[in-house]
Amino acid sequence: AEPVLSIKDLSVSFHTRTDVVRAVDHVSFDVYPGETLGVVGESGSGKSVTMLSLLKLIPASARVRTSGQAMFRGQDLLQLSNKELRRIRGRDVALIPQDPMTCLDPVLRVGPQIVEAIKAHHPAGRATLRAKAVDLLRLVGLPQPEQQYSQYPHEYSGGMRQRAMIAMGIANDPALLIADEPTTALDVTIQAQIMDVLKAAQAETDAGLLMITHDLGLIAEMADRVVVMYAGHVVETGDVETIFTNPRHPYTLGLLGSLPTAGGDEEWLKPIPGNPPDLAHVPPGCPFHPRCLLAKDREVCRTTPPVLEPAGIAGHSSACHFKDELAAESSHLLEEAE
Ligand code: SF4
Ligand code: MG
Repeated sequence: AEPVLSIKDLSVSFHTRTDVVRAVDHVSFDVYPGETLGVVGESGSGKSVTMLSLLKLIPASARVRTSGQAMFRGQDLLQLSNKELRRIRGRDVALIPQDPMTCLDPVLRVGPQIVEAIKAHHPAGRATLRAKAVDLLRLVGLPQPEQQYSQYPHEYSGGMRQRAMIAMGIANDPALLIADEPTTALDVTIQAQIMDVLKAAQAETDAGLLMITHDLGLIAEMADRVVVMYAGHVVETGDVETIFTNPRHPYTLGLLGSLPTAGGDEEWLKPIPGNPPDLAHVPPGCPFHPRCLLAKDREVCRTTPPVLEPAGIAGHSSACHFKDELAAESSHLLEEAE
């Protein structure tokens, strides 16, 4: 199948008076219909900026520079005018945000907001639109959709609001859903429910789902394939099984909580000590080297940026000079960590 979204060599930088902040640096990946691609990394890894730049949700200014391609159904999203993009957004590409209140209008009832979302792209009679909105509210599991149609966002719980956002997101049968940390604001049991709703909504539409999160549990549960980002770079990508059982990048291993600390004591990298670099001052060589245990006596890590290259199994790639060495060690390290 053809990918629904194909990102090629995407870079996004912010130019301040004194600095260049490289938030996204030559990132490439594809999303296929019906699959969930999880983009994972700590905050500051560039994963949200990647998504925002696709939909031009970063405020336009001369200080933002974007290059590369984001092919969606034969069109480069990065080349579209705001008007063209508006037509696509909410119809072919839907965003499920971290905080629904940024998208719901607090002074309007929820149902009519969904009606507006449908009407903007698929005009129809009032009764038809209303019935469709009620159906969508039912589909995402609201217990009394007729009643909840007429309620205001503040009368909904956080979980209900996120369900409403999913309803709105799939209202126009999108080809691509983008969810940015969709459940961080919710408690754990509600999170699981929302993920089930999102999965069901995706199945209903056969949309590709691009899910951006720092939560590996969520990735394990939801994703078919995984892109691991660090300091604006893709450092590893592969199917979810491979990433969890045979990672070939020390950062991924660290995320999985399975490398001993540089101090050599019994602590595990959970979370990885240190912070992602300031994106205005990404270290030379491998961006992960200041935090990487393996980098210790290896000059090449400090001097030469590793390239994302195939790492054995088809579709598995890692940007680490020592990925082959890790092949022997990672499953062993993961076992020890358990
Ligand atoms: Fe660590 Fe070197 Fe691999 Fe970077 S290239 S992840 S510093 S071992
Ligand atoms: Mg974010």
